[in-house]
Amino acid sequence: LRYCTNLPKVELHAHLNGSLSDATVLGLLKTRTQRDADPSLAAAEVTIKKGHQRTLEECFQVFGILHSLTDTLEAVQTITRDVIREFAADNVRYLELRTTPKHVPDRMTKKQYMDAVLQATVEAMVSHNIRVRLLLSIDRARGVEDAWSTLHLAKDYLNHTVFGPLVCGLDVSGNPVCGDLQDYLPVLQAARSCGLKLAVHLAEVPSETEALAVLNSGLVDRIGHGTFLHPASGGSQALHTLLKDQNIPLELCMSSNVKTGTVKTPSEHHLGLWRKENHPLVICTDDKGVFSTSLSEEFVLCAQVRPIRGQTFSFCEEDLHSLSLSGVEAAFLSPTDKQTLRREVQQELDALK
Ligand code: 5GP
Repeated sequence: LRYCTNLPKVELHAHLNGSLSDATVLGLLKTRTQRDADPSLAAAEVTIKKGHQRTLEECFQVFGILHSLTDTLEAVQTITRDVIREFAADNVRYLELRTTPKHVPDRMTKKQYMDAVLQATVEAMVSHNIRVRLLLSIDRARGVEDAWSTLHLAKDYLNHTVFGPLVCGLDVSGNPVCGDLQDYLPVLQAARSCGLKLAVHLAEVPSETEALAVLNSGLVDRIGHGTFLHPASGGSQALHTLLKDQNIPLELCMSSNVKTGTVKTPSEHHLGLWRKENHPLVICTDDKGVFSTSLSEEFVLCAQVRPIRGQTFSFCEEDLHSLSLSGVEAAFLSPTDKQTLRREVQQELDALK
């Protein structure tokens, strides 16, 4: 773990509200007198400890609990600062944080929510040695109209002198059994036309028709999870070909997949299948709070996995270095910023040799 902690890392798939540490959750609970009866119990309810599991459906209930704790602008600023500080402490040099703009009646509009996140991000970047960019998340369970309003909000930020450079794209997430991503393609098309990058949760659960339509659109820059895309993990040859032809990087979240049961064991994770084919991969946390993990721990988990079914899976130090660098390559940064990040990460990696 120490070696992986010391590695300079890039985190590209982290949901803000899913990334809250126990300390942050306890802090939020303390500020809410009505829930103070047994704060430690409440924190234990939202994190899934080692060896434990919850279904995706149960995880979405957990997100509901977390959202009820972060329904003030003050709480939104606190969680943003805490999460960025914790990633920086784990030697994450570049973080792409994603979050769904929230409207809470009488408390905040979606714009006020995002302003709070962006303001706290600006402050946290100054305080800690980390670059951060934001993706606005579209929640597929909330309908297409809500998605359009999120896109318009993101577009408005692009002209903002301070926040504009921090907003790099859109994420599509939310409960994968709700809605159909095909309905969201016009929104994604419009997002691409105004220069926003797109990270889309795809094939987290078996969903061949939807995944084919999304990949055929040619709009996606990165894929979250992609669990059921490879023919050896429940996908089809057509999906495999589309992904390979477009060389779309996969954001892989091992703890998340194993703890929600979409992948049975780390050894059976699709990481091994794609790695064998030299496909671009990025190791990510997804929800470091809910899944009780860190990016360093995800690197350890991947490095320790034993190969099965002829997969070449074991990692040496060199492989871990190249995983850090593949995060740089898949980042939604301008070519100049990417070049700077690449140089810095490479220098740190060389110093570790
Ligand atoms: P937030 O967007 O509120 O900052 O972060 C929590 C939200 O991210 C959840 O309500 C959900 O919409 C999305 N999310 C977090 N983890 C996952 C995941 O593993 N899969 C999907 N599809 N969505 C997720």
